[in-house]
Amino acid sequence: LGDRFQDIFKKVSGQGRLTESNIKDALREVRLALLEADVNYGVAKNFVAKIRDKAVGEEVIKGVNPAQQFVKIVNDELVEVLGGTNVTIAKSAKPPTVVMLTGLQGAGKTTFSAKLGKYLKKKGEKPFLIGADVYRPAAKKQIKVLGEQTGISAFTIDESTNVLEICKAGMEKAKEENATYVIFDTAGRLHIDEQLMNELKEIKENFHPDEILLVVDGMTGQDAVNVAKTFNEDLDISGVVLTKLDGDTRGGAALSIKEVSGKPIKFISDGEKLDDVSAFHPDRLASRILGMGDVVSLVEKAQEVIDEDEAKKMEEKFRKNQFDFEDFLKQFKMIKKMGSLGNIMKLIPGVDTSAIDMAMAEKEMKKVEAIIYSMTVQERRDPKLLKNGGRKKRIAGGSGTEVTEVNKLIKQYEQMKQVMKMFNSGGFPGMPGGFRG
Ligand code: GDP
Ligand code: MG
Repeated sequence: LGDRFQDIFKKVSGQGRLTESNIKDALREVRLALLEADVNYGVAKNFVAKIRDKAVGEEVIKGVNPAQQFVKIVNDELVEVLGGTNVTIAKSAKPPTVVMLTGLQGAGKTTFSAKLGKYLKKKGEKPFLIGADVYRPAAKKQIKVLGEQTGISAFTIDESTNVLEICKAGMEKAKEENATYVIFDTAGRLHIDEQLMNELKEIKENFHPDEILLVVDGMTGQDAVNVAKTFNEDLDISGVVLTKLDGDTRGGAALSIKEVSGKPIKFISDGEKLDDVSAFHPDRLASRILGMGDVVSLVEKAQEVIDEDEAKKMEEKFRKNQFDFEDFLKQFKMIKKMGSLGNIMKLIPGVDTSAIDMAMAEKEMKKVEAIIYSMTVQERRDPKLLKNGGRKKRIAGGSGTEVTEVNKLIKQYEQMKQVMKMFNSGGFPGMPGGFRG
C-alpha cells in the first residue's frame, strides 16, 4: 500500500494550477466513467466540458496531482447537480396529499406505490392506494395484493376501464377513511405514446396532484433522457424515483434525467422487497456513478491535512494574539471552500438556521472581505497603521463602503484582540481553549 501512494505522490510535479493539458487524461477518464455508468453521451460531454472550464486555473493542493484533484472537482459537482433543493415529499396543508406515479411499463410504479405507502405509514401518515392501470388485467390484482401485504387500503374497480371513474371513486373512499396521502398508480406503456400522455394529463387536470413523480428504471441508461424530457414537458413532473439500483447499474440515468428535466430525485428503490426504498442521497449516487471513490477520498484526506495545518497555525496566532487581517482573509477562504456560510451553519447541531438571516450574514461577510481586500498588505499585517484617517478613507473608497463601516471592522478587530487577550491569560476559566477555523 505504501508503495502505491509513493507512486501517486511522485506524479506531483509542482504544477501549481489545473490547466487544459495537465487534466487532459483525467478528463478522458472521467468522460469514459460517465459513459460506462450509462450517462447519455451528450449529457456526459456537456457535463465534463462545463467542469473543465470551471476547474482550469484552480490551484492544486499539496499532496495530490492535477488529475486527482480534477476527479474530486467532478465528484463535488456531481453531488451538487444531483442534489435537489427540495428532496422531501410534498405534504399538502389540506389533506389528503395527492401523489401521482407515472412512468413506462415495468419501471416499478406499482411496486413503488406500496413502498411509498409503507414509507409514509412509518412516518405516521395514513396512505391510500388507487390502482388506475386499466390495461393490464394483472395490475389491479397486483395492487390489491400489495395492499394486503402492507396493511394499506388499496382501491380499484375491477369491472371498470374508466381511469377517471376509478380515481374519483377512490378519492371519495380515501376521504371517508381520512387518508392523509392518496397515491395514484397509473398505467405505463413500453414506449411513450400520445394516448398514455393524454390519460395522464386528464388525471392531473382532474385531481391536481401535489406531487407527480416519474418512476424510472435505473438500468434504462441512454433512453432515460427521452423519457424524462417527454414526461416533464407534458406533465411538469415534480420529482423522480430511480428504481432497480440493486442491479449492477451505476445509475448514470440519474445524471441524464437531472440535466434534462432539472427535477430533483426524491427516492431510490433498490430491491423487490417492500422495505427496499430510501430517500435520495446525492453523495452516494455520485460516487457510484463516477466509480472513483478512492481518488476522491485521497484528495479529501490531503485537503484535511492542509486544513488542519492551517487551523493549527491560526490557533497559534490567536494564542499569541498575533492574528491580523491577512488571517481574516484566510478564514474567509476556508469558509468558502466549505460552501456557503449557510451550509456550514446547518452542520452545527443545535443551530436553528431559519432564525438567522443567512443572506444578510453572507452580504456582511462579502463587505468585510471587500474592505480587507482594499487594504495594502502592510495594513493587513499591521492594523495599527489604520489609525490614519487618510488610509481609512482610501479603503472605504476602494471597497465601495463608508468610513464608518471601515471603523466598525477595525473596532471589531480590536475587541476580538481584547477578548483573546483575556482568554489567553486564563480570564475565562472553564472555557475550551483554542480556536478552530
Ligand atoms: P410498473 O409496470 O411500473 O408498475 O412496474 P412494477 O412495479 O410492476 O415492477 C416491474 C418489475 O420490476 C417487478 O417484477 C418488480 O418486482 C420489479 N422491481 C420494481 N422495483 C424494483 C427494484 O428496485 N429492484 C428490483 N430488483 N426489482 C424491482
Ligand atoms: Mg404497474
